[in-house]
Amino acid sequence: MAWFRSLIRVSGIKPRNRAPNPFSLASLASLSTEATNKYSGLGPTVPAEKPRVVVVGSGWAACRLMKALDTNLYDVVCVSPRNHMVFTPLLASTCVGTLEFRSVAEPISRIQPAISREPGSYFFLANCTGIDGDNHSVHCETATDGPDTLDPWKFKIAYDKLVIALGAQPLTFGIQGVKEHAIFLREVYHAQEIRRKLLLNLMLSDVPGISEEEKSRLLHCVVVGGGPTGVEFSGELSDFITKDVRQTHAHVKDYIRVTLIEANEILSSFDDRLRHYATKQLTKSGVRLVRGIVKDVKAQKLVLNDGTEVPYGLLVWSTGVGPSPLVNSMELPKSPGGRIGVDEWLHVPSMQDVFAIGDCSGFLESTGKPTLPALAQVAERQGKYLSHLLNRIGKAGGGHANGANGMELGDPFVYKHLGSMATIGRYKALVDLRQSKEAKGLSMAGFVSWFIWRSAYLTRVLSWRNRFYVAINWLTTFVFGRDISRI
Ligand SMILES: Cc1cc2nc3c(=O)[nH]c(=O)nc-3n(C[C@H](O)[C@H](O)[C@H](O)COP(=O)(O)OP(=O)(O)OC[C@H]3O[C@@H](n4cnc5c(N)ncnc54)[C@H](O)[C@@H]3O)c2cc1C
Repeated sequence: MAWFRSLIRVSGIKPRNRAPNPFSLASLASLSTEATNKYSGLGPTVPAEKPRVVVVGSGWAACRLMKALDTNLYDVVCVSPRNHMVFTPLLASTCVGTLEFRSVAEPISRIQPAISREPGSYFFLANCTGIDGDNHSVHCETATDGPDTLDPWKFKIAYDKLVIALGAQPLTFGIQGVKEHAIFLREVYHAQEIRRKLLLNLMLSDVPGISEEEKSRLLHCVVVGGGPTGVEFSGELSDFITKDVRQTHAHVKDYIRVTLIEANEILSSFDDRLRHYATKQLTKSGVRLVRGIVKDVKAQKLVLNDGTEVPYGLLVWSTGVGPSPLVNSMELPKSPGGRIGVDEWLHVPSMQDVFAIGDCSGFLESTGKPTLPALAQVAERQGKYLSHLLNRIGKAGGGHANGANGMELGDPFVYKHLGSMATIGRYKALVDLRQSKEAKGLSMAGFVSWFIWRSAYLTRVLSWRNRFYVAINWLTTFVFGRDISRI
């Protein structure tokens, strides 16, 4: 476990070329000897040491920031319940075996090697539970896999600069049964759960003695939410059914169905022409589009507003995201939509040395700027912008706590939308490179768009290792079909 590796390394540290730091040595020693202490942690840095940037989260925003942060200027401490970044645009492809899970997961220590090499930089497998702005510290609790591994314990980390990048959480609109029975699609373990359930249902439906009604239910895959994620997943599923299930599970091929439920129009961020194209293509590939609002979710069926009952064997929920409970609990000025409010420099104005980026943050109303969409391209560019800003502050000698007070921060963050893309299955995709639906520019759909989609994301994958994995997975799937082993 990353936490234990950190502890072992920490106990053997002899900082080279640095003045000894009584604070941090004391706190580091306490880490190794009193690991089970309720409140051990990393103490404040002293002026002779590098300032410490604490990054909460390991998603798009956090990883882009850590990648470009100058580790000659700062020590980096990342706190997150997962030790990797998920390349979300390709996550849907892993649910049906088009891609393998490892192809979309990038370990943090590869993104920022200093985390595993530098004596003052760490990755801690933990959740941030609170922020004490007055004392410049972050409260954390270890993310163990439940008491079977280790009882979770609490600790604190002092920061010179804090970057909150803890993303958002799926919206359920308070609908009963969603959390219990539906699977979200945000993490690699969600994709693993979906794949296991899909293959389990396929195999169970082939076993003698199963009723026709039960077979039909088990093989009914329902997706709720017609945004890009829901549509891309439906497209992947229909590809899997038409290209693989028909051959590998010929006995049940006529039972398996995909239904996509959306309260309004699917793909509402795209223009009418692209939307109609997507609707036509999805229908052609056998995806049933249903306009409806889900009222209740039970173990084997969901109920729509008009009383229609929809039995399902697999239910995937993708109806957008909202602030996480931690963000909700923070008593800070918020942006419209309840995200952490930031100014034009992505700084949280009510807290010294605290910045917020990605899906968890939004411009304060007073900036006159709109809340940006919850997109990887926003999070990534905010991470990049903030890394440059922090590097500039560090170079100017303002890296330590309260060291940047009154400092000129330079140009504010400006977001320029690069366009949207979505695959819809059967080697087809939508590409809209305009800044808005009304603007002039390139927007197209079909095979060429699908090719652009694949090429664009292949080049966006963070490391050469994963780029290679993705390319090989695509080739293997094309030649041999998807892997249907239930491991
Ligand atoms: C399936 C899917 C497909 C997508 N496709 C696209 C696309 O094609 N194009 C696009 O632009 N956008 C896409 N998005 C949206 C994009 O992934 C998000 O906007 C982006 O991930 C936001 O980045 P972030 O860093 O703010 O949050 P995230 O990437 O969600 O990262 C949040 C991090 O914070 C951690 N965290 C959470 N709570 C805590 C806590 N209490 N303490 C410490 N750490 C915590 C999480 O473990 C995670 O590491 C997609 C999203 C999904 C789910």
